[in-house]
Amino acid sequence: MYSQVNYKEPAPIMNKENPFESMMERFDTAANKLGLDEGIYNYLKSPVKQVITSVPIIMDDGSIDVFEGYRVIHNDILGPSKGGIRYAPDVSLDEMKALAAWMTWKCAIVNIPFGGAKGGIKCDPAKLSLHELERLTRRFTANLLDVFGPERDIPAPDMNTNEQTMAWIMDTYSMHSKRTVTGVVTGKPMILGGSQGRREATGRGVMIVSTAALQKLGIKSNDAVAVVQGFGNVGSVAAQLLYEQGVKVIGLSDVNGAIYNSKGFNLPEVIDYVEKNKSLAKFPNAEVISNEELLELECDLLVPAAKEDQIRSKNAGRLKCKIIAEGANGPTTAKADPILQEKGILVIPDILANAGGVTVSYFEWVQDRMGFFWTLNRVNTRLERMMHEAFVNVYKTAAKYDVPLRIGAYILAIDKVARTLKIRGIYA
Ligand code: GLU
Repeated sequence: MYSQVNYKEPAPIMNKENPFESMMERFDTAANKLGLDEGIYNYLKSPVKQVITSVPIIMDDGSIDVFEGYRVIHNDILGPSKGGIRYAPDVSLDEMKALAAWMTWKCAIVNIPFGGAKGGIKCDPAKLSLHELERLTRRFTANLLDVFGPERDIPAPDMNTNEQTMAWIMDTYSMHSKRTVTGVVTGKPMILGGSQGRREATGRGVMIVSTAALQKLGIKSNDAVAVVQGFGNVGSVAAQLLYEQGVKVIGLSDVNGAIYNSKGFNLPEVIDYVEKNKSLAKFPNAEVISNEELLELECDLLVPAAKEDQIRSKNAGRLKCKIIAEGANGPTTAKADPILQEKGILVIPDILANAGGVTVSYFEWVQDRMGFFWTLNRVNTRLERMMHEAFVNVYKTAAKYDVPLRIGAYILAIDKVARTLKIRGIYA
């Protein structure tokens, strides 16, 4: 009936530090500082659920391809688990475990009633047609019907997934539930119960904590110089909003390359150019530089908003920035942390810096449940307040324990989840 089965194993990505080990190294340091009880330590390091599911679809040419899908729920002590779904060739269970744990800590830091989860499908989305992507998403959702749910586990967009992906998940889940369940995913299109400001939320959060950090160092936004790596949903918005704050953005990059202009880029012009040309690599009046050179530019603020493992033990010593605001998840390896600390670079860790996305996801979920939608102004004002509070709390915790902001953020989060666990107790 079908043409020959065709299973393609994506090429392995080499030289990647194990993200779960990277996460655990920081977790261990924070747990030690906190004097965490051993039983609670063991509880919190183990994900509550790890699902690996085989996702077969019929390709456009009639053949069958089988993809591997994952959903890891790290923890649901604070509430339903929350976290994105990514489509990429290097998706692995270890990566999902690390990203799911980061979601637990992220939600605790910004004080929203969610646990942490992450999911993904090992695939190369660039090689799939829109219809293949739709079938892949719907079958993945169908396989996870008993995991997802507005009170159980709520996916959102992540790398290579978007509003359309969320609409397919919502529709598939709703078809099986025999009613429209908007609250089962966030990051939906506005027309389907999405929230104002959700698309820009992660980049806006990066801008909010970056300007707070600049202020701490006594640098005025108008005098600040920034470099942004990555021009996707996070990097482009962060760069645009920093530019609006008067920050001079001298370096930018996307998957095709990096560009530099000592006078600073006009961000609306760059965004316009990228919309038309799909890439910023050939933007006029800019010097083309390598990704390594971009990261090593002299600046006040470096925003790695591309992917994992960009700042490593190999290049950390060459960085010439004063602040790093981690727009991506896990852009700095655990081995690079002490080098950055030694250099006196203030690192705003991913679990704080990019928490604006999940914060507005929470607003979206609340609005879906109320059936009452907020203005953009209300969303942005509340986001600003919550990101500021989180920044101040992380700063205070780091000062109290005399540790870098990253460990301060972990301590704050682990302490909150551990205290909640103690009150709930262990069901037996
Ligand atoms: N994928 C985003 C993150 O890593 C958003 C998750 C969400 O909104 O649930 O934070």
